[in-house]
Amino acid sequence: MNTKCPVCDGEVTVEPGTIESEIIQCPDCSARLVVEKIEGSHVSVSEAPKVEEDWGE
Ligand SMILES: [Zn+2]
Repeated sequence: MNTKCPVCDGEVTVEPGTIESEIIQCPDCSARLVVEKIEGSHVSVSEAPKVEEDWGE
């Protein structure tokens, strides 16, 4: 499964077994994306809300 990053428009691979509301990361721009909906092989994601915390890349 894959989808498009809403931030950079890049291709994002969604691992099988990923569930709705799970957070994944864009390999291109490192944006955190929330899985909104999974319908068959179509996955909708949106940018995760920014957090104050620094995840120390
Ligand atoms: Zn991206």
